[in-house]
Amino acid sequence: MNKIKMNTPLVEMDGDEMTRILWKMIREELIEPFVELKTEYYDLGLENRDRTDDQVTVDAAEATKKYGVAVKCATITPNASRMEEYHLKEMWKSPNGTIRALLDGTVFRAPIIVKGIEPYVRTWRKPITLARHAYGDVYKASEMVIPGPGKVELVYTAEDGNVSSVPVHQFDGAGVVQGMHNLDSSIESFARSCFQYALDTKQDLWFAAKDTISKKYDHHFKDVFEEIFEKEYRTEFEQAGLTYFYTLIDDAIARVIKSEGGFIWACKNYDGDVMSDMVATAFGSLAMMTSVLVSPQGYYEYEAAHGTVQRHYYRHLEGKETSTNPIATIFAWSGALRKRGELDGLSELSRFAELLERASLETIESGKMTKDLALITSLPDVTVMNSGAFIREIRAGLEQMMGA
Ligand code: NAP
Ligand code: MG
Repeated sequence: MNKIKMNTPLVEMDGDEMTRILWKMIREELIEPFVELKTEYYDLGLENRDRTDDQVTVDAAEATKKYGVAVKCATITPNASRMEEYHLKEMWKSPNGTIRALLDGTVFRAPIIVKGIEPYVRTWRKPITLARHAYGDVYKASEMVIPGPGKVELVYTAEDGNVSSVPVHQFDGAGVVQGMHNLDSSIESFARSCFQYALDTKQDLWFAAKDTISKKYDHHFKDVFEEIFEKEYRTEFEQAGLTYFYTLIDDAIARVIKSEGGFIWACKNYDGDVMSDMVATAFGSLAMMTSVLVSPQGYYEYEAAHGTVQRHYYRHLEGKETSTNPIATIFAWSGALRKRGELDGLSELSRFAELLERASLETIESGKMTKDLALITSLPDVTVMNSGAFIREIRAGLEQMMGA
């Protein structure tokens, strides 16, 4: 069999712990036998981030701007216990945060739907993709505990010295207060990433906030979306037969639950934080969620939504087999390969991505799966497999499809 050729390299970002082990297996068993894989490799494993003073993360993000498409393995975000475990020079920032800031991107999370893993909401048949704005609001707020009676105001001092203010509250007793902000530049990037990704994936876009109560703040988000849509995207949406609409967050939630899925739901930062956990759980499993970072310029970084599966890794280090689910990481690779194929006009590469996904899902549907799925499946005769055996099973199916 001739291997499928690539033109442009993928930016490959390796990672940590159990997902790093899966990464190598997926590459060797499911990609390299079929594709003449071209990647520019960046080792974002914590040891190498520490060695390079985290420069490798910045370099990987810059490479993504150069080539356009990246695939990333889950990585450790250091905390106090990781500082000790890895003898780190510094508590390096989350690589995802660094990359997101450099690409000015929005993260879209979507569940992988497969027969036998039923969503808790019985009307859901297609994935619901959640887009979370990742800047500002309560995540960059200033807060104050008010000890007793007194006046609180919001004060804006312009660069020319002009001052304007609004009262927040005249306190009779103790209380709390919070001031938060957002930036037009960030809201605009968020909106453009959403419109771009809706066109890319041919899905309708919903945006929801609470403008009836927040008449300036949330209303401003609504206006920014509306203006960008009218000026830059309406024609393309109409040509593609797609819809964009704004609705109140309460209404959105009611509609989401009654829907059959198959759309993108854009949320402000806090709503997106909470609703993405709700949607992921309701679809059945974090191990079946994909994630893609999309910048308004059209750079893409694909990954699994879950972390490095630390507990499984410690078992792996003891020499034990683990039944860690590789599906979301496989779909990160297939997502990146498909996009690379689209951008470079390599239909064979995009078709390979399709078959890799199909072989993965058919393996599960035939009753062969990892332990996490075996615990929640509605299929009757199930064989629980460790990660290696499961990946080799997918490979066998893929070889048949590819006629190897
Ligand atoms: P996690 O890796 O997502 O795993 C949490 C638990 O979920 C696991 O212990 C496991 O449950 C289950 N799970 C998640 N993915 C699974 C899979 N593919 N197959 C089977 N079970 C799976 O979260 P964590 O253990 O809290 O975090 C570990 C590290 O990941 C942290 O250092 C964190 O910083 C990092 N992290 C990275 C990213 C990223 O790079 N995007 C995202 C989140 C977290 P059982 O143990 O019960 O089997
Ligand atoms: Mg959350």
